[in-house]
Amino acid sequence: MVTDTEGIILRQTKTVNGRKMILLFSAKYGKISAGTSIGEKSRSKAALALRPFSYGRYELFRSKDLYSINGAEVIRSHYRIGEDLDKYLAASYVMEFTERVAAENLRNPQLFQLLLDFLDMMEIRNKKLRTLVLGYQVKALQILGSAPQLETCVLCGCNGIHPGFSIRDGGVLCRDCIKKLGLEPRDPLICEPDFDIVGILKYFLEHPLKSLETLALADPVEAGIQKLLRQYIGYHLDIRDLKSEGLMIDG
Ligand SMILES: [Zn+2]
Repeated sequence: MVTDTEGIILRQTKTVNGRKMILLFSAKYGKISAGTSIGEKSRSKAALALRPFSYGRYELFRSKDLYSINGAEVIRSHYRIGEDLDKYLAASYVMEFTERVAAENLRNPQLFQLLLDFLDMMEIRNKKLRTLVLGYQVKALQILGSAPQLETCVLCGCNGIHPGFSIRDGGVLCRDCIKKLGLEPRDPLICEPDFDIVGILKYFLEHPLKSLETLALADPVEAGIQKLLRQYIGYHLDIRDLKSEGLMIDG
């Protein structure tokens, strides 16, 4: 069956005989693997559409669950991401994260749009790349239905002040519950940080990614949120040790 879809290239791997395997986050079919023999030199415009970070239109041949890409056309290549090391590393991390959270053969229009917004914004962003990466991850968790609970205490449900955060229970904790937990083997808790991590997470959840265009968090704030998210994502999504994580530098 011949079909076509818009998509974003998550990864490209060279295989034998000049063929490539493409991991495509497609608008119509979700994350799919597809082989292609479109070469770098022979058909350069199509080859450009197969590079990581490219957003394009792809002509696919599908036989059962196997795909091959017969034609490709760039819509936006996001080439400026590839020209800046910091952007490249930050975006590579987001692609790897997305590869891990996106389900195979299951369309996810919201996550697709979020990734596209991220790449568009990353391409023109000049500083504090990590703020955008963290915003992306929180929005992705929200789309996946795995966002932390921030409005009421995750253990007792009370409103009011929540100075703690429990990774395991997935949300904020009130003082009483922190006290009770103190008697048990402790969760990894982050209590009373110098800055309002929870307030920023809430901001991320309540606003579209595009509203982060001018938001630049201070380094310690970014570091605090990054630490919390790393633990949270490891615990709740079982995603740890992303290859590109250690390489991410903030610009
Ligand atoms: Zn409580």
